[in-house]
Order: sequence, then structure tokens, then C-alpha cells
Amino acid sequence: MRVAAAQNARATAEVALAEANKALLKEETLRRSQELEVKDRRGKIERLRKQMETATSAAQIAALEHEIAFSEQAIVKLEDDEIASMERTERYEGERDRATLQLEVTTAALAAQRVRALDIKTQHTASIAAIEAERGATRARIAEAPLSVYDRIAKAKGTGLSEAVDHKCAACQMVVRPQRWNDLTGRDHDGQIFTCETCGRMLYYDPRRDAPVRWAAGERLTGSTPTAQ
Ligand SMILES: [Zn+2]
Repeated sequence: MRVAAAQNARATAEVALAEANKALLKEETLRRSQELEVKDRRGKIERLRKQMETATSAAQIAALEHEIAFSEQAIVKLEDDEIASMERTERYEGERDRATLQLEVTTAALAAQRVRALDIKTQHTASIAAIEAERGATRARIAEAPLSVYDRIAKAKGTGLSEAVDHKCAACQMVVRPQRWNDLTGRDHDGQIFTCETCGRMLYYDPRRDAPVRWAAGERLTGSTPTAQ
């Protein structure tokens, strides 16, 4: 999950950077065309001034002056637009710098999260191996008969054990008959295995439920090695 969040953050920074670069390119292209147009207008004004030198009538001169003034106004407008474009460029450059930094930060964060995820996976793999080893050692201590009963129920039901709670099998919720309950929870039948008469799971009883005391974290219920019923 943290890796996915880090990936999203990095992707967002990447998009922001791409958008800033795209906007910068657009402004550059716009200014190039504005500069070309200014150059054209200036050339035109120069040609118009040359024509003025050879103009013969007042009307002709007035028309040329009018055209020159028109081009001069156009140049003023283009230069204003160019300044506005440069201001936008400055803003986009700021956005680009922030996005670049953000991309660096999120890239590093993603790498850190990937390392962390790998660490967790390694830890879990080790935990699983330890549990498997413990399971193997535990199975080796249990007699073959109850182990085969357990394996058969576990295979059929998904779980081979069920806690007996409040006169019921916690897995199938069926009532454990009073005599059976007494035998299960009493001291006279230690080492005997009781199964649920309905679902067949092996029942275990945790006396902590009846005698609430503080148990240390991770402390387990230990008992004698079960034998066949
Ligand atoms: Zn049951």
C-alpha cells in the first residue's frame, strides 16, 4: 500500500513536470512567431518610408503615414504580448523547478518504500519458515493416530481444531452435551482428545476464559502432548 502511494506521488510529480515543460515550449514557440512578425512589420515600415521619399501627392503621403502608424501600433502590441509571454515563462520555470524537486523527492521516497517492502517480505518469509519448522517439530511429537484424525478434519473443513466456548463448539456453534463438556473441561480427562460430535473438529478448552488473569503478551496455553482418544 505504501509502495502504491509512493508510486502515485511520483507519477503526480512526473505529470506536473511534463506539463510545465510543455507550457514552456509553447511560450517559446509563441515568442518566436511574435519576434518574426515584429521583424516583418519593421521591414514593411522601412519600405513605406522609402516610398514616402518618392511620393508626389499629399494624399499618397497621408496614406503611407497611416500605414506606418498602423504597423507601429502593431509592433507595440506584439512587444507587450512578448513581455506577457516572458512573465508566463518565468512562472512556468518556477513550476518546473518545483516539479523537478518534487520528482527527486518522490523518486527517493519510492525507492525507500520498495526497500522497506522487500525487508518486510524477507521478515515474513523468515517468519513463515520458522512457523513451518515449529509446525514440523510439533507434528513430530504427536502420535500418528490423532495426527491423522486432525489432518483428515483439517482437509475436509479447512480447520481441524475448534475452541469449546460456553458449552458450544465455536466453529459450528453446536452444543456440547453437559457430560462431554464436564469431561472436556475437567481434570480427569487430561490427555484425552474430544471431538465435536457435529462437525468432528478436535475441541480445545482454554481455562483462561473461566479464570481471567493477566497473561504476558505472546504467552501460550501449553499442555501435555495429546494422545489418541
Ligand atoms: Zn463443531
